[in-house]
Amino acid sequence: MELFNDLTRRKELFTPIKEGEVTFYSCGPTVYDFFHIGNSRPFIVFDVLRRWLEYLGYKVTFVQNFTDIDDKMIKRANEEGITVKELAEKFIAEYYRDAKALGIRPPTVAPKATEHINEIIDTISKIIKNGHAYVSEGDVYFDVKSWPNYGSLCKQNLDDLEAGARVEPGEKKKDPLDFALWKAKKSGEPFWQSPWGEGRPGWHIECSAMSSKYLGENIDIHSGGVDLIFPHHENEAAQSEAASGNNKPFVNYWVHNGFLLIDNKKMSKSEGNFTTARAAMQKYPPMAIRFFMLSAHYRSPINFTPEALEQAANGVARLKNCIDDLNFASKSRVDNNSDFDIQIFEKELTDLKAKFTDAMNDDLNTAAAIGDLFGVVHLVNSSLKDNAALPEKFFELSKSAFDFYNDILGLPGQDENLSELDENEIENLITERTNARKAKNFKRSDEIRDFLKSKGITLEDTPQGTKWKLSVN
Ligand code: AMP
Ligand code: ZN
Repeated sequence: MELFNDLTRRKELFTPIKEGEVTFYSCGPTVYDFFHIGNSRPFIVFDVLRRWLEYLGYKVTFVQNFTDIDDKMIKRANEEGITVKELAEKFIAEYYRDAKALGIRPPTVAPKATEHINEIIDTISKIIKNGHAYVSEGDVYFDVKSWPNYGSLCKQNLDDLEAGARVEPGEKKKDPLDFALWKAKKSGEPFWQSPWGEGRPGWHIECSAMSSKYLGENIDIHSGGVDLIFPHHENEAAQSEAASGNNKPFVNYWVHNGFLLIDNKKMSKSEGNFTTARAAMQKYPPMAIRFFMLSAHYRSPINFTPEALEQAANGVARLKNCIDDLNFASKSRVDNNSDFDIQIFEKELTDLKAKFTDAMNDDLNTAAAIGDLFGVVHLVNSSLKDNAALPEKFFELSKSAFDFYNDILGLPGQDENLSELDENEIENLITERTNARKAKNFKRSDEIRDFLKSKGITLEDTPQGTKWKLSVN
């Protein structure tokens, strides 16, 4: 597969360090609040990259951290009158709830900064020993000018960077470009013992320490949003390479997603223009949100608008309805003597799968890949429409095609229901309606149809019985 590497600014053939294995680190959330829809973009797109690499046959170790100590964590815990640990526990649990609803698989390892203080201290000690960091009144800073490669990821020279650098009140650094690896204890803040006195880690160092612990000093892929290129990832690369001292790059492929925009501005907590994923999922089916994220290339910016989300919800409903129709027909319309041309059908499916594979291998072009999935939807729908009976093989091939696409994209499978009613409730109401119709109680049967419609379910009466579908607007 080819991946766009931000280090070289071009698409490169992906070749892992160790044959058959991929070491993949993705920067995770700071757990002081629910994550917003913008944050969910990297979680979703890199979940798909991980699934795709697994499909290609690699054993992927996917590490995504939880930042559970930083200024925002401390501020929010103080505001809420709880400890930083309590705040982190609460929002880690909420992360998993939202991630599951969005079809985001849990990472192989999800390390927390506060549980890796020893590893962080070790990493800082190595950087000091190798001459790239210094201690200043209980703080430790990375000495940026001692690191010749600094700026190679963000493609800026030191003068430009220096122009934008500032020294925050209380910082004791020698040069405005330097950044904190360790911060001396301040009153009211959590702290740990260290060789430099009591204090806590700076933000960037946790990713260097945890990445090397779980994946080794040199890894294949590191991902996050584009806003992380500078300073976070530039700093991580400098720290990790300064600590390892092995002259090998910390990361071979740096992969970044574009922004999710709202009214053409980056969605962010600090701007206050955000919608949490939790709130968005009360408005739109979670799978519509996932579909929306995958309907654009991961590096392009995307606009979060009600129209785009409704369009995505329609897409998901069309997919789900096709799978439901297929299941329904497989119960009553199988006929191995049907004159349906299964060979042509199989060839068309194979061609679509080849196109899908090419798109995914082309820097994870999920937008094009989804187009091929809808090629399958179209093919299955028209086969069902044009043929009263179909051979068993038609159903087998179609179902396994959908399983393949849905597994990779993490979209709804056959059994998933995206309405707020569960399937038993829907089936029970349909039975009640069928009985009401038999008893000529049309008032009740209409009531049930209208009620289901208000919940986004459309009924269709067929000679084989009543089918339900998610409404398509
Ligand atoms: P944070 O919790 O702020 O560290 O963000 C977690 C992840 O979300 C990081 O990879 C960020 O780069 C990413 N991110 C934050 N805002 C956006 C946005 N508006 N669009 C896309 N990604 C974002
Ligand atoms: Zn990070």
